[in-house]
Amino acid sequence: MTDKVPVHPTAGVKIFGRSASAQAYAMRDFLQRCDIPFEWIELKNDEQGREIGIDGVNDPRLPVCLFSDGTRLENPTIRQITEKLGWFRNPSYSEYDLAIYGAGPAGLSAAVYGASEGLKTVVVERWALGGQAASSPRIENYLGFPAGISGAELAERARDQACKFGAEILLGREGLRGEFSNGKSVGILADGTKLVARTAICAIGIQYRRLGLPNEDKFTGVGIYYGAGASEASFCLNEEILLVGGGNSAGQAALHFAKVARKVTMIVRGDALRDTLSAYLIERIYSTPNIEVLTNTEVTAVNGDEYLTSITITNRRTGESKAIETRRLFVCIGGQPHTDWAVEVGVARDEAGYLITGPDLQADGKWHAKWPLDRSPYYLETNIPGLFAAGDVRHNSIKRCASAVGEGAMAVAFAHRYLTNG
Ligand SMILES: Cc1cc2nc3c(=O)[nH]c(=O)nc-3n(C[C@H](O)[C@H](O)[C@H](O)COP(=O)(O)OP(=O)(O)OC[C@H]3O[C@@H](n4cnc5c(N)ncnc54)[C@H](O)[C@@H]3O)c2cc1C
Repeated sequence: MTDKVPVHPTAGVKIFGRSASAQAYAMRDFLQRCDIPFEWIELKNDEQGREIGIDGVNDPRLPVCLFSDGTRLENPTIRQITEKLGWFRNPSYSEYDLAIYGAGPAGLSAAVYGASEGLKTVVVERWALGGQAASSPRIENYLGFPAGISGAELAERARDQACKFGAEILLGREGLRGEFSNGKSVGILADGTKLVARTAICAIGIQYRRLGLPNEDKFTGVGIYYGAGASEASFCLNEEILLVGGGNSAGQAALHFAKVARKVTMIVRGDALRDTLSAYLIERIYSTPNIEVLTNTEVTAVNGDEYLTSITITNRRTGESKAIETRRLFVCIGGQPHTDWAVEVGVARDEAGYLITGPDLQADGKWHAKWPLDRSPYYLETNIPGLFAAGDVRHNSIKRCASAVGEGAMAVAFAHRYLTNG
């Protein structure tokens, strides 16, 4: 079974909306991550709204999506867009050999290896393909791509490969919780669908960490953007961009924005970039004239009414604060796992919420109290036999694309062993 994207409706999606629209941002972000070309048309006045058949810039039918086959969707949900792209589907089978939760690099890799090795494989993804990697404008340290590759393109290639081998990908579906009994896993999805599988891999990665400031939620998608903001770069022509974070993802984003923006300011809590950034990025950042790095600095307030208009930054050494006017702040300060569901079903986690697997379930020569079998857990197996964890969600993982991909492939090998030997 293949799941090839129909090409025609995707070529040139146009999104019409007003500037301060979180929904329009969600659509741009989704399409960018799915590697689908789109055009963003910001409506400046009511007259422009009437030209596309609505009453004006405050019409609740905005944002409007126009597909090249003439289809028009008014204020659509991401699920409606997924349906339009032909990507929304129901599971084909009542039971699978392997269910994978998360379609980032780890989940997609598990899908390729699982399906290619003959396992009836399903992947559940709550948003778009590619996970964090899909928000990266250019991944340069992934084996085999010396000139780099955008995360969205890498994910699209992986999707194609997984589907070629017969994996089913259920996009726009969120795994809420799981039940594990009698050698079966039952995943309960947010829409009520139940997925039964003989073995499962949790590859749900991490979610962007937030600044934790008052008003932050209000500006999400209307001035504050998480991740490298790949979908927004082309709209920042000649603007001054502010970016929080000193890690590799922030460094990549700074270099990407610097190509179009007048100036990029990196706001970094630590003393120096060298503590947090790969050498190849440090060199480039310091040799790019329109990037400024403010160390020992943090964002202490975000301000505005309908959308972000300024932020306040504070020097951590001197305590001095100042306001900077801006309409866009990109936040790249890493992430944290969202694994509350694991507590309910008794999956062992570390203090930060990462899932504990394999040898890490052992302490002082004894297996974790929740490990139920006489045999040792397989590497990447959680304390629930037959449930594996791969990629960033796993305790002690490396937080790189290549390691997530490697763990996805390894988890399938151990899933096979579990299916054969128990
Ligand atoms: C901007 C940026 C740039 C980066 N650049 C590089 C780089 O150049 N080189 C490098 O090696 N690494 C890079 N990384 C790190 C790399 O992207 C991650 O280590 C990698 O994506 C981890 O893969 P993963 O599959 O474990 O998790 P993720 O990529 O986090 O994917 C997890 C997926 O699971 C989905 N999900 C979560 N919860 C659920 C649920 N309940 N139900 C269904 N689906 C769910 C999410 O939507 C997501 O798609 C970068 C990260 C970022 C953010």
